[in-house]
Amino acid sequence: MPSKRARLDRFLSAHIGISQKATRLILAQGRVLVDSCIASDTQQLIDEFSHVTFDDQVLQSNTPRYLMLNKPPGVVSATKDDKHKTVIDLLDRSDRNNLHIVGRLDFNSTGLLLLTNDGRWSRRLTEPDNKVSKLYQVKLADPITQATVDAFAEGMYFEYEDIITRPAELRIINDYEAEVSLTEGKYHQIKRMFGRFQNEVLKLHRIAIGNLALDLSLATGESRELSTEEVCTIR
Ligand code: URA
Repeated sequence: MPSKRARLDRFLSAHIGISQKATRLILAQGRVLVDSCIASDTQQLIDEFSHVTFDDQVLQSNTPRYLMLNKPPGVVSATKDDKHKTVIDLLDRSDRNNLHIVGRLDFNSTGLLLLTNDGRWSRRLTEPDNKVSKLYQVKLADPITQATVDAFAEGMYFEYEDIITRPAELRIINDYEAEVSLTEGKYHQIKRMFGRFQNEVLKLHRIAIGNLALDLSLATGESRELSTEEVCTIR
């Protein structure tokens, strides 16, 4: 989700319906405030959270929102779906349609899902180069082998994307249960990796993204706003 940075003259032109040239005059007259300060530079960059007024008219006033949701199974990680309930449908808030998902979970996967209206924040978290880790609990149909652990650590070739997966940590808890830590999110990645060993994933539950853990007080399907500290320190 791209963050919406725009030049002030273009923004004013689009929102007030005047030419870009005419915006110079209203800026020179001190009639435009950006975040409560008189704006005079036509080239000033504003983003989706800049508070912009023209005379007494509020042109833009958005507050960044950050939520964690404990995703249930059988719900689509999408903003719209013709057949199934989406994670957005689980939210009881008027601004829910302005939110987007930060790193999807499959239809039957459960656990920590982040939602926001802040494109820059979500891009930072999902940018491959930033290598933000994602931690999953997994339950398998068959016992987990050491060969699987080794293959996760080495990386696997995915023909469709023509990539080798990044080293991933597979920590065995017992014969059928493990924790997996990934720093990327290819389509059905964990299921495909276990699929190489003909071992079906029965349950997949995300418990952390970076240093942010799923709040265990959230029942399945419940969500809450992140604290400022959580928003700032996730990495
Ligand atoms: N890997 C998967 O296969 N599914 C998920 O939902 C997340 C990671």
